Amino acid sequence: MNDPFYIEGLRFGCTACSKCCRHEPGFVFLSSNDILRLMDATGLAFRDFLIKFTRTVDLGTGLAISLLETNRFDCIFWNEGCSVYPARPLQCSTYPFWERIVESRKSWLVEAEDCPGMGSGPLVSMELIDELLARRWKHPPVLVPYGYTLENINENSILGSARITANTSDSIES
Ligand code: SF4
Ligand code: SF4
Repeated sequence: MNDPFYIEGLRFGCTACSKCCRHEPGFVFLSSNDILRLMDATGLAFRDFLIKFTRTVDLGTGLAISLLETNRFDCIFWNEGCSVYPARPLQCSTYPFWERIVESRKSWLVEAEDCPGMGSGPLVSMELIDELLARRWKHPPVLVPYGYTLENINENSILGSARITANTSDSIES
């Protein structure tokens, strides 16, 4: 297998421009651990959190759970910055080190056109990039079977295993 193009690391330093959090429609898909953390951050129970802050999105193989947006396409948690920053979803905390973005130099450069932090700032090592990718594999977005809604998704089926592993060191990323 060929070495990844980022073998010598990639420079990234978020400028906090918030471009990836607002102004354009998009999805922030949640893993079980994301939901647990955000329930804690908002002080809401499972059902109340889902109904107040999320929506389902049909992925063709089931329903993913994504954060809501305002009618101006801002993330529901954006308020002069991320209002849940320490508990933000893995999708946010691992950006821009996503599979499709670090797939090739070309995909990295295309994404960098929309993110001023990519290509400047501290060097992020290949080892750390691979660790972030592995974390994303380990905590994929929740996929709910068709037929369920936010009102009747079974809490244990979504959070059961996340609760069991919540006390292990790598189950909830910092
Ligand atoms: S677009 Fe890039 S630089 Fe701007 S907030 Fe998002 S990650 Fe940071
Ligand atoms: S949760 Fe926070 S970091 Fe993620 S998109 Fe929303 S405002 Fe941005």
